[in-house]
Amino acid sequence: MRLYDTFSRSLVELPAPPGPVRMYFCGPTVYARAHIGNARPFVVGMWLRSWLRQNGYEVELVHNITDINDKIYDAAPGASAELSARATEWYLEDTSDLGLGMPDRLPKATESVPQIVRFIEELLAAGHAYEAAGDVYFRVASFPAYGRLSGQKPDQVEQGEEPSALKEDQRDFALWKANKPATEDTWWDSPWGRGRPGWHIECSVMAEEIFGPAFEIHGGGLDLVFPHHENEVAQSQALGHPFAQIWAHNGMLRFTGEKMSKSAGNVATIRETIDEWGREAVLVFFLTASWRKPIDFSRETMAQAAARRDTLRNAFTLAPGAHDDSEWEAFAAALEDDFDTPAALAVLHEWASTGRLELLRRGLGVFGLDSLAARDEVPPEIAALAERRARARAERDFEAADRLRDELAAQGWQMRDEPGGGYVLVRS
Ligand SMILES: [Zn+2]
Repeated sequence: MRLYDTFSRSLVELPAPPGPVRMYFCGPTVYARAHIGNARPFVVGMWLRSWLRQNGYEVELVHNITDINDKIYDAAPGASAELSARATEWYLEDTSDLGLGMPDRLPKATESVPQIVRFIEELLAAGHAYEAAGDVYFRVASFPAYGRLSGQKPDQVEQGEEPSALKEDQRDFALWKANKPATEDTWWDSPWGRGRPGWHIECSVMAEEIFGPAFEIHGGGLDLVFPHHENEVAQSQALGHPFAQIWAHNGMLRFTGEKMSKSAGNVATIRETIDEWGREAVLVFFLTASWRKPIDFSRETMAQAAARRDTLRNAFTLAPGAHDDSEWEAFAAALEDDFDTPAALAVLHEWASTGRLELLRRGLGVFGLDSLAARDEVPPEIAALAERRARARAERDFEAADRLRDELAAQGWQMRDEPGGGYVLVRS
């Protein structure tokens, strides 16, 4: 199994099973219902865990909740803790409705502050950080490899996020921020006074608290490479910790061709998308693009995903065909080669069209789609309509048969005639 690694810009082989494979995927900042683009790192992480477990790996997936952040203070002045608690619940509800199960651990920044303070103290003691007026900054000049992850020369990196006269160097970034009482209604005590951690240090600390100083995969959206992940690398490696072996960055979800952002105003949330299209169509949608590539979200692409879902589901109304276990190899090979889900999806469609139902069921199961293999429960009134239509056809009353077919269609059911006079009911 190999995966593309942003740091080395190459495909990197995973250790042989049972590994372990320890994965840390950056989670959401909780201040609103998460948009559908936020579901992608979650889905990719859960699918990878599922595939690796099936292949005999010991896998642990950690997905953090960023519940200390400027965005939360801005969104709920005076009630930021309440908003972040509610938005955390929304995120857990919405991702759990994707039907993939949940990550093994979901640490929260607010529950990790003492550990964060200790980590910052170590950076200060080693000369990699300095205090200035209650803030603590990471000293970028003390870490010569700064910029490697994002492919920038250390002396030419983009300007730091928040220019400040307190910084020795504008590339420096905050590890700890002094409390601003006018706008920030939560704070923690520290050796530098009241304040709260910066965003980047939260992830270095939460990952290392759970996994120790080295682990196999660090994931997150491509938009996090700089500065978030560059800064995580700097904080951890400055202390001599190897940190992540593979950096797995998923491509962005684009809304009508542009990276989706709240400011664009054309946002669909995970909740709305599941409610409108169903969780299976959402998962099939994510299968259609390589995890590293951008994926276009629109009504058209979601309708195409829903049609694919129907094709895969309707395959189970066919008579099962024979298969050879070696046919699984094509599917496995696609996933082992940088988790190529479009290629794996093509194999699933091939199996659907040739009645390889056992293989199809097994393959769908990797992606949380085994529900497509479950025959629909037919409500009694639908079964009765179908029986009447079958009788009408047997009596050659085609007018009545057509009328009953339309009635079934109006209720979302399709009757498929089978050879020998039987029929199958499928959702249309
Ligand atoms: Zn992070």
